[in-house]
This record gives sequence, structure tokens and C-alpha cells, in this order.
Amino acid sequence: MLAATSARPATAALAAALARRSLASAAAPPKVKSIINGEVFESSSNVWHKVVDPATQEVVCLVPESTKDEMEAAAKSAAETFKTWSKSTVLTRQKVMLDLQALIRRDTDLLAASITREQGKTLADARGDVFRGLQVVEHAAAMPTLQMGEHLPVATDMDTYTIRQPLGVTAGVCPFNFPAMIPLWMFPMATATGNTMVLKPSERDPSAAVHLVQLAHEAGLPNGAVNVIHGTHDAVNFVCDHPAIKAISFVGGDRAGKHIFARGTANGKRVQANLGAKNHAVILPDCNVNATLNALVGAAFGAAGQRCMALPVAIFVGKAREMIPELVERAKKLKVSAGCEPDTDVGPLISAAALQRAESIVADSEKLGARVVLDGRGIKVEKYPNGHFLGPTIVVQPAAKSLAETTQLPCYTEEIFAPVLTILEADTLDQALELINANKYGNGTAVFTNSGAAARKFAMEVDVGQVGINVPIPVPLPMFAFTGSRGSIQGDINFYGKSGVNFYTQIKTVTALWKAEDAVSSQANVVMPTMK
Ligand code: NAD
Repeated sequence: MLAATSARPATAALAAALARRSLASAAAPPKVKSIINGEVFESSSNVWHKVVDPATQEVVCLVPESTKDEMEAAAKSAAETFKTWSKSTVLTRQKVMLDLQALIRRDTDLLAASITREQGKTLADARGDVFRGLQVVEHAAAMPTLQMGEHLPVATDMDTYTIRQPLGVTAGVCPFNFPAMIPLWMFPMATATGNTMVLKPSERDPSAAVHLVQLAHEAGLPNGAVNVIHGTHDAVNFVCDHPAIKAISFVGGDRAGKHIFARGTANGKRVQANLGAKNHAVILPDCNVNATLNALVGAAFGAAGQRCMALPVAIFVGKAREMIPELVERAKKLKVSAGCEPDTDVGPLISAAALQRAESIVADSEKLGARVVLDGRGIKVEKYPNGHFLGPTIVVQPAAKSLAETTQLPCYTEEIFAPVLTILEADTLDQALELINANKYGNGTAVFTNSGAAARKFAMEVDVGQVGINVPIPVPLPMFAFTGSRGSIQGDINFYGKSGVNFYTQIKTVTALWKAEDAVSSQANVVMPTMK
């Protein structure tokens, strides 16, 4: 059925060559491989999507819609492998994670080159994408401690203890914006706890995920423990419906996430779904001005605003508004170009449609009175005339509109996912808090201040799951969990950290009686046990 090719990833030199490859010199774009039962093969699908370099619009590769037979084979392989992998020792699984982290370090440049090529982000940011995922693998290597249960002698000769057992076949559905980090939130935690997985990378930048799963096999993960299928709606519905799949991890936008959560849970599956965001920064007048301005510019425009923990809204409180002109000046200085250019600050958006959507949200807001004080629309990048570029754009609260009216504008109500910063002005910290707490999302927020009291009040009263105090993108390291809240999550068991272990395991509580006297007595006790 499946024609196998080498599972060994390409060398760094090949990656560099791939990153430079131009359409003119390429005969036909390569086809992204699928992985089932350890076989790395070309799908027999007759539906293939183009993966486009966002800086040039060149076709980098083609990604299939996996066929029904291939998806069935992936689920079957994962179910078969679960029978043995779930019985592997935790030390075996730890060893795979230890070896995987070393291989990811070895191939970081290779992975980063492919991410820049397919997703558009700068090479430095692509390395960061790999590195933040690598940290989850390193954390998963602590599974012998993480998966420990509890034990208590509860009565005379009686012990209660818990065992964290894997669920079975799990599935992962990934977004485009972190092509390495988010697959690495999923399959290492799933397999280190003894599960198997069917992974569906984003169809817009699938190569990093395929590469990472190949590395996991190289590290000793058995064939079938992680299977990679490709596609869009059909693949997603397949994992929602397949009876062998017991749990789904999803990261992406609201529409897909709500669909997957509803359909997956209706089919009795455990689902964790991280959704969209609209994160606010609050700038108090006593902040460190220089550090705050740099933090805001980096978090609003870095990765072209395509981070779920970006800061697309800044609320300047009181006199802090005097910082706005300097913020605009610093944003103006950012270099917009292809991610592979060494001095690029802001790369292209993922697609022409994303660019057009962002530009029209800015235009619609402008028509309703918003002031565009920095306009990156129509920016020309000479060397990359076909790229989906939007320069840093700053939209300011209209003078004639109140704060409440401004929050009705599309630049505030929409998750733009682009380098567009909306600036609001508030009179007090309480007013800023009220605004943030009224927003439907709760992914992340940050306050900039030198007042411990104000920072503490903010952290305690803001209804958002991840809070930065003078930290612009407070994504927790993997010993904690990714704790976005309210509209930014469906399901209540978070990704990675102890929560990740909870998500991928079922707790079993065992109560055992080994009576000391049984060693000598032959008299039965017929009374209901009271555990005294
Ligand atoms: P997306 O929802 O378009 O795609 C995510 C996945 O869902 C892809 O694998 C895609 O194939 C699939 N999909 C898309 N539409 C679908 C549909 N209608 N039915 C079934 N499946 C569908 O998301 P994206 O554009 O790739 O990623 C950007 C979004 O992800 C943003 O909203 C961002 O905030 C969010 N995100 C959230 C977090 C978080 O942790 N909260 C992290 C990263 C990204």
C-alpha cells in the first residue's frame, strides 16, 4: 500500500539549499510525506494543496488531503502500537524524549529554515519556535516524576494509591503560526505518558511537523506511535469521529476549535482546544519608558503579529499617553522583508487572504473614525514584490469617540492576527481592567509599571489566564501550563506541564487490603468495611 522512503531527515546543507531554492530552478515542487506505522511515504491522494512561500508566493511544496484509507491505516497503526507502547516502562519513554531533544538541537537550523520558507517568520524567530517546543520535550523527559501517582496508608493494613494510565490513541490538530512548537506541545507529552497519536499538521506549513516525527522515530519511538496525516476538514472530522481516538488536542482559531470541541466531545472524546485571542497591554505612567516601548513594539509587530500571545491592543493610562508618539517612531524603524533576510524585523503574513483581511479591517475602522497614525498598507519590499507584506500599522482611538465606542470598532472586535496595534486611552487602572475583563478572550495580558501594588492589583483582578508584569509575551515555561482562559479555550485541561499529564492520562485509584493477620488467621470478616 505505502511506498516507503528514507525516514532519515535531510542534512543542514540540503536545508539551506531548499531554503534558497527558487521556482525558476525547480522542476516540480516536492510532495510532503505522510507517516504511517513508521513508513514515510507519498500519499496516493489526488487532492494536493500548494504550500506557498509567503515572501515570494513561490510554491514550496504540495501537501495532500490524506485518503480515507490512509487515515484509517493511521488510526489502526496507532491502536495496534498502543497495545505495546502503553506497556513500555516509563524509563524507556524517558530515554526517547532525552534522545529526541538532542536530535532537535542537532536539526534546529534545518527546522528553522523550513519554517521560514513555509510560514514566513524570521529565521531567529523560527529558531525560537523550535526552541520553545524543545523545552516541552525536555520537560517530558521528566515523566518518571511527572507521572507519579499518590499513595496513602488509609486504614490498618490498607493502602490507597493512584496510577496515571494512558488513554489510547490521541490526535493532534495544529495551526500555522508555530509549525514546530505546537506539534511539540502535543506528541511528546502524549507519547511520553504511553499514548499513541495521529497528528495533523497545518496544511499551510506542514514540513516541520513531519521532520519532528521523523526525529522521534530516530530517537527510538516505535513505528505507529505517531502517525502523520494531512488535510483540512475531512481529516479533522475523521479524528473527531473515529472510535479508536480517545482524546484530541487542538490549537487554532475559534471556528475550527469550537467545531472540533463540539463534535469530539459529542463522540465521547476528551478535547482540549486552545482558540483565538486579543491580548491587551496596560501601560501605567510610572513604567520604565524605554523598556516598555521596546516590549510593546516587539510584542505587537514581532512575527508579523501572528502569535496568539501577541499584544495587539495597548491601553495607555493617564499621562502614559505621552509615550504614544515615541512608540510610533520606534515602530516606523522596523524593517519589513522576507524572514530569510538577516536584518528583517517583520516578515510577511501567511497568505494573500490574511493580508487582504487585515487591510480591510483597518480600512473599515478608519471609515468609522479611527485614526491610522502609522499605515503599513501597501508597503513595497523591493526585493520581494510578491510577498504578503503589511508594515507595522497603528490605529488610535478616535478623538470624538469614547473608550466604549472605540471597542465597537472592527480593529478592536476582530482578532486581526497581523502587525496592527490598536491604541486606547484610559484614565485609571480600574477602567483598563474593566475593559479587559469585558473582552471575550482571556489568553494573555501584560501590565507595565514600577508599582508593585498596581501590578499585584492587576494580576489579582484581571480575568485573563496568563499575566505578564513587565513581560510582554508571558507564555509559561513547560513546568507550568499554558493557561489561557474564557473565550481562548474550550475544555478545561491545559496544554503541557502537570495539566498536560492530566490530559493524556486517566487516574485510577486502587484501594488494597493486605491484612497482617491473614498471614495467620482463617476467619472471614462479613461486615461492610469502615476503613478504621
Ligand atoms: P485555523 O483554525 O484556521 O486552523 C487550525 C487547524 O484547524 C488546521 O489544522 C486546519 O486545517 C483546521 N481547520 C481550519 N478550519 C477548519 C474548519 N472549519 N473545520 C475543521 N478544521 C479546520 O487556525 P490557524 O489560522 O492555522 O491559526 C491561527 C489561529 O490559532 C489564531 O486564531 C490564533 O489565535 C490561534 N492560536 C491559538 C493559540 C493558543 O494557544 N490559544 C496558539 C496558537 C494559535
